[in-house]
Amino acid sequence: MTDYRLLIDGRMVEGDDSMEVVNPATEEVLARAPRASAAQLDQAVAAAKVAFPAWAERPITERRALILQIADRLEADAEAFARLLTQEQGKPLAESTAEVAYTCAFIRHLASYDLPVKVIEDNDARLVQQYRRPLGVVGAIIPWNFPLLIVAFKLPLALLAGNTVVVKPSPTTPLTTLRLGTILADLLPAGVVNVITDQNDLGALLTAHPDVAKISFTGSTATGQKIMASAASTIKRLTLELGGNDAAIVLPGADPEKVAPGLFAGAFMNAGQVCLAIKRAYVHDSIYEEVCDRLATLAREAVVGDGLQQGTTIGPLQNRMQFDKVKGFLDQARRDGRVVAGGEVVEGRGYFIQPTIVADVNDGDQIVDEEQFGPILPVIRFDDVESALASANGLDLGLGGSVWGSDRDLNRHVAERMESGTVWINKHLEFGPNIPFGGVKQSGLGVEFAEEGLAEFTQIRIVNEAR
Ligand code: NAD
Repeated sequence: MTDYRLLIDGRMVEGDDSMEVVNPATEEVLARAPRASAAQLDQAVAAAKVAFPAWAERPITERRALILQIADRLEADAEAFARLLTQEQGKPLAESTAEVAYTCAFIRHLASYDLPVKVIEDNDARLVQQYRRPLGVVGAIIPWNFPLLIVAFKLPLALLAGNTVVVKPSPTTPLTTLRLGTILADLLPAGVVNVITDQNDLGALLTAHPDVAKISFTGSTATGQKIMASAASTIKRLTLELGGNDAAIVLPGADPEKVAPGLFAGAFMNAGQVCLAIKRAYVHDSIYEEVCDRLATLAREAVVGDGLQQGTTIGPLQNRMQFDKVKGFLDQARRDGRVVAGGEVVEGRGYFIQPTIVADVNDGDQIVDEEQFGPILPVIRFDDVESALASANGLDLGLGGSVWGSDRDLNRHVAERMESGTVWINKHLEFGPNIPFGGVKQSGLGVEFAEEGLAEFTQIRIVNEAR
């Protein structure tokens, strides 16, 4: 078994404790991972604090060159990373391979930005310049659905801006992050990035830590609320990418044959464990049955299994807790709706659930109103576009949303009134490092990616000089 270690102050060290990491496809122990103590968390933050001044003063070109090397090293080891990702997270190998490639692409693109000094006034009276300075130590807290890619949402921009970082992956998917730690240990000065792992006990300490200037968090809305509360005492900067319950509105006139594959892919990627997945499909009455039938066919054709097996298109739920939660949703779906495909747990080992399409459900049903985060898609019938829009906008969440139809004016009219951070037209789930990404309402605070995301890892310093 590989020996996994924490990265603290430039060294790969054992955890004060250890923990089992389970392969969700087999329920077997995949590896033992270190488990950091509160004292080790303090050491990691202290190392990041000490490393900060020198890293912040280094020219951005040097920081960029080092960040780019992370992508090179990851790419050189891509196959091993992808395999490990499937083993710890569950997703099909093709999706893991894509995640590793995206991770490299995100690192490279995000490292390309600059932090130019902006001249606000330059005249006989004064020179006013705006600098963007780093914040200090950043805590990066990662969920279990995209353990590697979400590190790349945060790390390159935090480092490029001159911050130092403590990364904390999810307890159930720490291995790829720890493996990345070995690359970071080789490339970066001691303390610039530290990787610690926990059993859901150190995140709260990190967010309350007086020497942490900012938390960049991706995870559930409930945890985001706790982070906001605990960050209050130190006025920490926060970027929160939280839960979603994305609606897709399929308008009258949409071609069911065309939209069904897009809806299916948007809902079932990573077994539905995607913040931006379609979690509610509102389909016009005129095409409702046909869209349900086509979605049901795609669900039956999907191949559920171990992600390492060739041909698998849907892997297991990532962990036991999520598996049990989604089973609860299945029970509810059978009670309140008409299951047109799936609806069952796959017997045997592993956290497998058949991809499930539930028709004849309504707003107010738990399966519609709550984020399932699993391979279940509720399909809701509507006959009035305004009421579908009101339903889509009716929740406290607003990460993404999509409109599907053949009338461009109507598509845009509906899209412009959807209350979400991203609205797609005739697609869902497309994002990139050059496109700012964030949620409205309780789906988040701030944005990631692009120049706007970089700005969130900085603070403005104005230098105002008399002439
Ligand atoms: P989670 O909130 O349970 O855990 C996320 C991370 O927070 C883990 O590393 C966990 O250890 C840590 N954590 C737990 N308690 C903490 C605390 N009190 N303080 C600080 N950190 C703490 O989320 P999850 O179950 O891992 O992920 C699923 C959720 O994440 C879903 O709601 C999903 O929609 C959301 N998500 C959002 C995005 C996005 O970009 N908006 C992306 C992926 C997932």
